[in-house]
Amino acid sequence: MAELTHSVADMIDQLGRLPGIGRKSAERLAYHLLRVPKTEALALADSIRSVRENVRYCEQCFNLSEAARCPICTDPNRDTTRLCIVEQPRDLISLEQSGMYRGLYHVLLGRIAPLDGIGPDQLTIDPLVDRVRLGKFTEVIMATNPTVEGDGTSLHISNLLQEYPVEITRLARGITAGSVLEFTNKEILADALNGRQKL
Ligand SMILES: [Zn+2]
Repeated sequence: MAELTHSVADMIDQLGRLPGIGRKSAERLAYHLLRVPKTEALALADSIRSVRENVRYCEQCFNLSEAARCPICTDPNRDTTRLCIVEQPRDLISLEQSGMYRGLYHVLLGRIAPLDGIGPDQLTIDPLVDRVRLGKFTEVIMATNPTVEGDGTSLHISNLLQEYPVEITRLARGITAGSVLEFTNKEILADALNGRQKL
């Protein structure tokens, strides 16, 4: 019994480390997982294992991928003259769901946030500059979030890209300042893409 108590306590502890899950929710989830059929609980464990063992970052754009390159980078029908820069893979998904964009992406895996100690070298900015230097892009679209940090990141990158012959644009501000791409509905995102402006 002591052993069981220990495992349950450990699971509550693990669940409680997830974002947005307090102690009470962690307990509720743990007791839920003890109550459901064993196969159901183990399916969750298996899917966590599978994601962590099989999913990695695309070597080209840093989107989530199960192969060296993601399905967008390997899709021959994408427009390889446009490159859209986003903070996170979930922002890329929001833009894909708008259905308005057929170019390629580059995922920064974060934003420059001096207060959190995140500088440009912790993001995928170096490989981004290499891609622009070596690629055939005519347009780079800044789709960082319309927050102080997102704007700062976008400014830093556009300064670095000044020397290359690409047009730099950003999403139109149909998106309310401070709102986050992943929570913006697809019609507004589609308008923001259509109305993008020169930076
Ligand atoms: Zn990719």
